[in-house]
Amino acid sequence: MSEGNQLGGQYIAGEWREASGTESIEVRNPTTEEVIADIPNATPEEIDSAIDSAAEAQIDWGRRPAHERGELVREVAELMLTNQSELADLIVEEQGKPRNVALGEIEASADLCEYMAEWDRRIEGDILPGDTRRESIHLQRHPLGVVAGIIPWNYPIAVFIRKFAPALVAGNTLVAKPSEETPISTLRLAELIDEELDLPDGVLNIVTGGGEVGTRLVSSDAIDMISMTGSVETGKAIMEAAADNLTKVSLELGGKAPVIVWKDADIDQAVEDILTARITNTGQVCTCAERVYVHGDVREEFEEHYVEAAKNVTLGRPEDNPDMGPQVNSRELEKTEAAVKRARNEGAEVLLGGSRPSGTNFERGYWYEPTVITDVKQDMDIMQNEVFGPVTPIMEIDSLEDAIQYANDSRYGLSSYVFTDNYRTAMRVAEDLEFGETYINRTLGESWHGHHIGWNESGLGGEDGKYGFLKYTQLKTVYHNYD
Ligand code: NAD
Repeated sequence: MSEGNQLGGQYIAGEWREASGTESIEVRNPTTEEVIADIPNATPEEIDSAIDSAAEAQIDWGRRPAHERGELVREVAELMLTNQSELADLIVEEQGKPRNVALGEIEASADLCEYMAEWDRRIEGDILPGDTRRESIHLQRHPLGVVAGIIPWNYPIAVFIRKFAPALVAGNTLVAKPSEETPISTLRLAELIDEELDLPDGVLNIVTGGGEVGTRLVSSDAIDMISMTGSVETGKAIMEAAADNLTKVSLELGGKAPVIVWKDADIDQAVEDILTARITNTGQVCTCAERVYVHGDVREEFEEHYVEAAKNVTLGRPEDNPDMGPQVNSRELEKTEAAVKRARNEGAEVLLGGSRPSGTNFERGYWYEPTVITDVKQDMDIMQNEVFGPVTPIMEIDSLEDAIQYANDSRYGLSSYVFTDNYRTAMRVAEDLEFGETYINRTLGESWHGHHIGWNESGLGGEDGKYGFLKYTQLKTVYHNYD
């Protein structure tokens, strides 16, 4: 862990304020279970002060030429790459993903800053002729004001940057709350920004703590937009809190991504891609392949190859770059265990895994084996609710209609996947799947210039690309009469 004062206080108006409250939350290393930090819960006064500082800073920040704002976000990209190794180590320590994946998270976050900064010269409006003589109507894009960024633990830096970069380029200021599980890397990045860059005081503020800190932040009438990534349940609570002030919300929530493997698919490619999409970050990704529907003609072959491939998945200390590290905490591990247990009780068969690994390497830490389950039914819990762990349930289907119907039979609607060699099948499935993203013949990950959006209970708003950027702006119509 880095030295410095960033772990002991809140980052408000460009300075680290020593915690004034008495409550704190322990952060544990998921590999060793050791407590690695004790993070203060921001007090209501500190949260309000962070919001005030963001509101004050926004007046000037919003009036700066957008290109200047973009330049600062580009500098953050450079800063992250310069400090890639240290930031990755902190992610590994607090979240438990393999080190090469953490390095990739920093690189991708820098790339996202670069992409969002490109919007600095593309904030366009419209000019329309008026309905009266000598009138012109201008539609302009303005910043919203102060954005509250609520961050989950599974990609602490990437999701923080997903809020930070577009919000700032568009002229907003930010009060971010990292997850109480993984605040250290974000705090360190804020410290680096503070020390190395000329970001005006108050443009970025960080408050730490758990759900109650988040609630106070999103309930403030001085917040102009809430951009949150996390679970469906938290998303609903935030929407309720936002209702009182009619605050704009953008919610990126959980998923239960279906994969359809049609009989003409390249089975080896499907196995490799689906397994990767299930075990990446130990299955703790919103876009993870969560349920597989395989055509009866190829089900046996698919299952055999999938189990063989899953047997070769390596588990180990994240520093050694295994395929999978531990789950983030004991609660998440117990949720995975409970989901597999329920599936067993409901009659499913576990083909591989289904428990914590044994051996001295796994005595401490929150480990779960790669697990493959068959003989599942559509109404089983394992096919209906998000499992944030490395568990793949496989179900046989015999018609495309069934596959599409089962895939759509979900309260979620984020990512979906289809493997087929037939163009018509691919296009039809892509058209009929009720999900914000459909990938044909590949799985993870999304591109920054695409649009990451959950339908149904998976979200409201969407991130990345043109539409993800523009949501951080609001339109204003100016009528110019020069008669
Ligand atoms: P979570 O909902 O438990 O917590 C997310 C954040 O919300 C945390 O910072 C937490 O402190 C805060 N929070 C909790 N209660 C709050 C409240 N009432 N008001 C305001 N803030 C509150 O989620 P998590 O366990 O950190 O993350 C895992 C979930 O995130 C999964 O469901 C995953 O699918 C989802 N996720 C979605 C995406 C996406 O882009 N759609 C990306 C990553 C993760």
